[in-house]
Amino acid sequence: MAASIIDGKAVAARVRAEVATEVERFVAEFGRAPGLATILVGDDPASAVYVNGKQKASAEVGIQGFDHRLPADASEDEVIALIERLNADDDVSGILCQLPVPDHMDGVKLTGLIDPYKDVDGLTPLSAGYLALGREGLRPSTPEGVMILLDEAGAQLEGAEAVVIGRSNLFGKPMAQLLLKSNATVTTCHSRTRDLPGVCRRADVLIAAVGRARMVKADWVKPGAIVIDVGTNRLEDGLSGDVAFDEVSDVASAITPVPGGVGPMTIACLLRNTVKAARLAAHSGATV
Ligand code: NAP
Repeated sequence: MAASIIDGKAVAARVRAEVATEVERFVAEFGRAPGLATILVGDDPASAVYVNGKQKASAEVGIQGFDHRLPADASEDEVIALIERLNADDDVSGILCQLPVPDHMDGVKLTGLIDPYKDVDGLTPLSAGYLALGREGLRPSTPEGVMILLDEAGAQLEGAEAVVIGRSNLFGKPMAQLLLKSNATVTTCHSRTRDLPGVCRRADVLIAAVGRARMVKADWVKPGAIVIDVGTNRLEDGLSGDVAFDEVSDVASAITPVPGGVGPMTIACLLRNTVKAARLAAHSGATV
């Protein structure tokens, strides 16, 4: 069986077009655009590429960008002062602190200082708590993007066996929560999981977010499963996911490619969150 390819680029383009329309509506209503502030500390080239991409994508849909860059030797107090300033700035609807931050800073602490109503990365304790409680809120962009791709692939999540490999705060945990909210039976795997291939073979929906190139092989996959590859591994021959794409494509019913699968959805959902946060702020008394 040749799996159908889930085209993340095309779906992300659609989401971005919807966001652009939402931004136009917002501007017509409130006379200003939603604003996204990014904070980049240090000179990690990969982080700079991510932040540049987020700022560029924001501008393309009409979101106002506030691009803050601090040197690698900036103090944690300087970053805290910046976050506090952005929290108080009405032109800033969403704040994103690009991780990782330099070693002398605590990324979890810094993220936690972002106003939860501006938490477009969905990583503050309040956002994580609302998700765990099954309440509305700002969700982390990558798992939110995966849910859209699953819908696109026609996944019937109710009662389905879903397996997530990876338990990071950024992706694995919120992904499992979103699947649970959709009534899937969810198993989360990690580096101590016994018989990982055997657990994966149970999955109707298999999601890999590990950071190990081509780890998931064809014989880990149940015939007809939907496979979502979140991994981004930079190899000498280019970007690779966590799934051995060529062989798994022969077994799965649908699969995301790397690049062009989950990656484009992350930025699209970040933009969507920014407009959502702007609307929340514009309606006083609204709660996430
Ligand atoms: P992370 O924080 O490093 O988490 C990796 C997870 O994989 C951990 O839970 C770890 O288990 C688990 N793991 C490691 N080795 C394993 C093994 N041999 N067997 C089973 N599980 C194993 O990474 P992350 O931030 O979640 O990201 C994961 C991957 O997704 C990376 O490649 C990252 O670049 C990519 N990513 C892509 C996007 C995107 O927009 N496309 C967004 C986010 C992440 P333990 O908890 O036991 O250590």
